[in-house]
Amino acid sequence: MRIYKVGGAVRDRLLGRPVTDIDWVVVGATTEDMLAKGFRPVGADFPVFLHPKSGEEYALARTERKSGRGYGGFTFHASPEVTLEEDLIRRDLTINAMAEDDQQNLTDPYHGQRDLEARLLRHVSPAFAEDPLRVLRVARFAARYAALGFTVAPETLDLMRQLSESGELQALTAERIWKEISRALMEDQPQVFIEVLRACGALNVLMPEVDALFGVPQPQAHHPEIDTGAHTLSVLEQAARHKQPLTVRWACLLHDLGKGLTPEEEWPRHIAHEFKGLKLIKAVNERFKAPRDCQELALLVGEYHTHGHRALELKPSTLLELLQSFDVYRRPQRFEEFIAACEMDARGRKGLEERSYPQADYLRGAATAARSVAVQPLLEKGFKGPELGEAIKRERLKALKAYKETASS
Ligand code: ATP
Ligand code: MG
Repeated sequence: MRIYKVGGAVRDRLLGRPVTDIDWVVVGATTEDMLAKGFRPVGADFPVFLHPKSGEEYALARTERKSGRGYGGFTFHASPEVTLEEDLIRRDLTINAMAEDDQQNLTDPYHGQRDLEARLLRHVSPAFAEDPLRVLRVARFAARYAALGFTVAPETLDLMRQLSESGELQALTAERIWKEISRALMEDQPQVFIEVLRACGALNVLMPEVDALFGVPQPQAHHPEIDTGAHTLSVLEQAARHKQPLTVRWACLLHDLGKGLTPEEEWPRHIAHEFKGLKLIKAVNERFKAPRDCQELALLVGEYHTHGHRALELKPSTLLELLQSFDVYRRPQRFEEFIAACEMDARGRKGLEERSYPQADYLRGAATAARSVAVQPLLEKGFKGPELGEAIKRERLKALKAYKETASS
């Protein structure tokens, strides 16, 4: 048997990037050969094995053929006769279809190295169109390598467009889509992921609510970039630049969905877009079965981001309601993430990226003031049940009034 490094490990070594996980392909071996060497099979009938020591994935060379709709509709053929070149041709991009032996000799039948130099994400063969997940993968790689100057080859974008129009994307499960979305959002340039999906028509299929934001104007005085879609991309860009976690990035992407519902005659104003957007945010959350913390933060940021921007003008009673809505007493981290999302929203405006955001510290101070109200003295005064709840609220309101006065003096 012959063993080669393949995929990301080869690509990233040639790019001079750190290699995290290594995928291997094994040519000229059978399942029995692998088991005899102590490899553990990952599944009952899939020719992929884990190395007994390193735990890395070793796959028998295989060919693949589409045999129906969706992901279940794939048949593969693994045997010792399958060549390295035959295995590489089933892969998505030329830069992912190179192999390397233990002497670092490169096998590159589809010119991945040439495309690395040309900074092109290009499909290996027309069989690319057999797996719609590749639309998302390519957009994700575009987000990851944008800073290096990579773009999607026009002919690959054409194939991605055909896949998007064919209805094949709908055959993907929520889990597989979310895995790609969540990884893409954590890349350095997550906005490029959305741009590429949009350019090939996949955004309109996967998240029409986000697609609808492009072409919707906002008031120039607050939003020099005007376009709501452009603004959303900038907010995402800022979130990545400020190393925000996935929850915040997801909330950033969805925070303004309500603006896509504004009747044209009301443009460029978007009255009550925060509230109107909630049902759209809920729909997107559920479509991809986003994790609970992502879902929750997206809804809260959608509803309250304007409160965040107006923090310094809010009445103490409104501040208190905001803090109660976030249950800041038990969930301080979630409120911190809300503040971060608001700040990214403010910075995601053309020319205002570096402007300070005093609302952030003001909101933190308000949370601290409200949280500093001690329950024990109220218990000692004999309050219980609903009366205790009311008493705590009164004390918190007092604390917020005092906070607002000191903060503004
Ligand atoms: P990463 O750095 O994200 O791990 P990777 O290129 O190693 O990138 P993997 O998902 O680990 O990506 O897959 C390993 C290799 O398997 C890819 O480089 C590609 O050659 C191939 N591959 C994975 N998924 C697909 C797919 N859906 N269609 C075609 N080829 C794929
Ligand atoms: Mg990999």
